Amino acid sequence: MAAHQEKKHAEERKHQNMQNGTKASQGQWGRAWEVDWFSLASILFLLTFAPLIVYYFIMSCAQYQCSLSEPLLDLLTGSKHLADIWNRTPTLTYRAAGIYALWVTFQVVLYMCIPDFCHKFLPGYVGGVQEGAVTPAGVVNKYEINGLQAWIITHVLWFANASYLHLFSPTIIFDNWIPLLWCANILGYAVSTFAMIKGYFFPTNAKDCKFTGNFFYDYMMGIEFNPRIGKWFDFKLFFNGRPGIVAWTLINLSFAAKQRELYGEVTNSMILVNVLQGIYVLDFFWNEAWYLKTIDICHDHFGWYLGWGDCVWLPYLYTLQGLYLVYHPVQLCTAHATGVLLLGLLGYYIFRATNQQKDLFRRTNGSCRVWGKRPQHIECSYTSVDGTRHYSKLLTSGFWGWARHFNYTGDLLGSLAYCLACGFGHLLPYFYIIYMSILLTHRCLRDEHRCSSKYGQDWKRYTAAVPYRLLPGLF
Ligand code: NDP
Repeated sequence: MAAHQEKKHAEERKHQNMQNGTKASQGQWGRAWEVDWFSLASILFLLTFAPLIVYYFIMSCAQYQCSLSEPLLDLLTGSKHLADIWNRTPTLTYRAAGIYALWVTFQVVLYMCIPDFCHKFLPGYVGGVQEGAVTPAGVVNKYEINGLQAWIITHVLWFANASYLHLFSPTIIFDNWIPLLWCANILGYAVSTFAMIKGYFFPTNAKDCKFTGNFFYDYMMGIEFNPRIGKWFDFKLFFNGRPGIVAWTLINLSFAAKQRELYGEVTNSMILVNVLQGIYVLDFFWNEAWYLKTIDICHDHFGWYLGWGDCVWLPYLYTLQGLYLVYHPVQLCTAHATGVLLLGLLGYYIFRATNQQKDLFRRTNGSCRVWGKRPQHIECSYTSVDGTRHYSKLLTSGFWGWARHFNYTGDLLGSLAYCLACGFGHLLPYFYIIYMSILLTHRCLRDEHRCSSKYGQDWKRYTAAVPYRLLPGLF
């Protein structure tokens, strides 16, 4: 079986590396082949606690008005037992299962059955069939980019229902939030387990599979690089973008509708969260073709981290600000609201401009202008598994000359703005900036480790030319 052969090859490569005394040779880039104790401990921690963390946050809002400390205090002082909290938690319902099944099926239909038409009439939008980056096995996958269209159709239907059809209440998501959490978990675990089995028995491309020999690591970080069903159903593209990110803006709209139902108005903080996160989501779909070149698609294998993360972590924890504002309808003073808006827009500008500079530079192979000048860069090379030598360039002009991940810095500023929109009453809405800081700092290190094994000495020349990661002069 192809996957078993590849597993054998992986073990031989590991053995060879150990004999050569090298950890990873240049060209063998991608996910780690060997699992160190720290990675394993982090993975076991996440597999065990991530579902509990999500539950804890959502339960804190439902039962404790979004206080993170009160449930713990209740448990520690003995005034409540775990069973008391659990017994008050809504269970899985047929209604939630129906809503969720319909939702995911609808997104599958939009993804698989309606080829992109947006690129035919939206100037500057890149959609339709696009190519991804070269995989470590030297494969270039094709993708049907139709996320913007799926987002537009879904939202037009949402507004049509809210304004005219009235088939369901716009508060439907909030009203079924915890039962839907169980459905999202079922899908998250099902898809991750299926991806693991598929990696062993019927991988899409055996040469793009990685086996570390550690079950938990392989389950979490994935075996297959680009698992697909048929020619077009790409797990990474589908689960990363839809159902989670299309849902993000709908979830926020549902929270806004609930606020209006409860208090008769939608606060300016809720509008800010809806608008700023809406820009971020819309940007994601407008740039879906660019997204094919990001780490999630170019480097990460598809396992629980992406499968469960996209189904549960993203829709439930990225929307905590809106949920919080249902329980605490904060009305900001004009100065505070303006500050949040400006910070959010500045963060978004840096995030987009930095990503745009790299994308333009890579697409034109350096024949472009960055900040009005011809961009400077470092020439580099790497070798794919089949032994082919590839050439690439690392940009050192524009924001990429300021820091090696200034796009993350912009993302962090925008994330901070969402949190600040919620005022200073509770810690819960600040989870997002804390999480994003950890995620993106870890991502810097992960990405640099990969790039270093991919580009070798060329990467060293690049880090010497651009010495800082996130904040020029500091880190
Ligand atoms: P990048 O878009 O920064 O991609 C990193 C890759 O770009 C590297 O692996 C390397 O790939 C290439 N690269 C690195 N430096 C240079 C350079 N100087 N010139 C040209 N190419 C370079 O990172 P991500 O994919 O992680 O993130 C994309 C965006 O998505 C970011 O803005 C991030 O903030 C956002 N994001 C948001 C998340 C969220 O949950 N909200 C989660 C993760 C990301 P190569 O092998 O091609 O050389």
